[in-house]
Amino acid sequence: MDRTPVTHRTTTRQLGRLPSSREIEVTVHRYVGGSGPRVYVQAAQHGIELNGPAALRRLHGRLCDARLAGEVVVVPVANPLAFDARSYLTPAAYDARAPNMNRRWPGEESGSLGERFVARLWGLIEDADPDAVVDLHAGTPDMLPHVRHGADDETARRLAEAFGTPYRLAAPDDADSSAGKFRITAARAGIPAITAELANSRTVSRPAAETGADGVERVLQALDLLAGTVPTVEQTPLHDEPASVRATESGLFEPADGVAVGERLSAGEPLGTVYNPAGFESLATPTVADGGVVYSLARGTVVAGERLVALGAPS
Ligand SMILES: [Zn+2]
Repeated sequence: MDRTPVTHRTTTRQLGRLPSSREIEVTVHRYVGGSGPRVYVQAAQHGIELNGPAALRRLHGRLCDARLAGEVVVVPVANPLAFDARSYLTPAAYDARAPNMNRRWPGEESGSLGERFVARLWGLIEDADPDAVVDLHAGTPDMLPHVRHGADDETARRLAEAFGTPYRLAAPDDADSSAGKFRITAARAGIPAITAELANSRTVSRPAAETGADGVERVLQALDLLAGTVPTVEQTPLHDEPASVRATESGLFEPADGVAVGERLSAGEPLGTVYNPAGFESLATPTVADGGVVYSLARGTVVAGERLVALGAPS
C-alpha cells in the first residue's frame, strides 16, 4: 500500500434550485492519499440525525493528520433542506411527493425536487467510483445502535464487523420495502454498502459521534486505506428475519413493562396496548409473532399499519 500524507480539499455540488433562485448545494470533502481504494461516506439524509455530521467532523481531524492509501469522499449533510428545517423529512413545501430522501435512490433527473437532489448526489457518487460506501444515520432512544449490511454480501458484512457497533443486522436486499434505500441501491450497483444507525437523533451526543468516527476509521483500516489493525469488538449478529409487528389499530401505543430495545422477546409475549387516547378503551393488545431481539420500538401515537416493534433474530 502506498500511504502518503493526506491532501484535503472541499468543493460544492449543486443539487437543485429553489423558487427564489437560491441554489441548494452540498459540501464535499475529499481526502486524497497514495494509490488505493476509494470510499464514499455520507450523513444526514434525514435532517434531525445530527450525530453523523458530528462523527464526520471528528473523522476530518483524524484524516487530515493521517497517511492514506486511496481516497475518502465525504458529504456530511446530504439533505440540507431537511437539515435546515430541523425535520426528519424534506419539508412538504419543497417536495410532498418524495419527502424521504432514503426511499428515492438513485433519484430521477426530471423528477420532483427531492428526486433531482438524489440524482445529482448519485452522479457525484458515480464520479467518485467508490469501492465501498457508508451511510450514517441516527435513531431515536428507542432504536438500538447498530450497523446494517446485505445478508448475502460478504464484503459488506466484513465492513459492518469492522464498524464495531455492539449489534450488527443482516438485512435481505431484495425486500420490496427496501426499494429506494441508499444502501440497497449501492449494493445493486455492485458497491459494498453499510448503514450505521447511531444513537440519539435530534441531539449531538459525544459517545454516538465517537462511535461513528471510530466506525468509519475502522472501515478505512479494514480496506487498508489507513494503517492499523481493526480492534476486535464483541458484536451480536442479528438477522432482520422475523416479521415486524405492525399496528392493527390507530391510537396511542404503550409498550408493556420489559419491552425495550435490546431485550429478547419470545413468540407470544405481549408487546403492550394500543388504546384510544380520548375514550381510554383498549383497541389492540399485540403479541410477538416470532421471537427476537428488539432493535426498534414505537412509543406514542401509531397509525394502523405502522411498525410497533422491529425484531432481529439471533444468527
Ligand atoms: Zn435516518
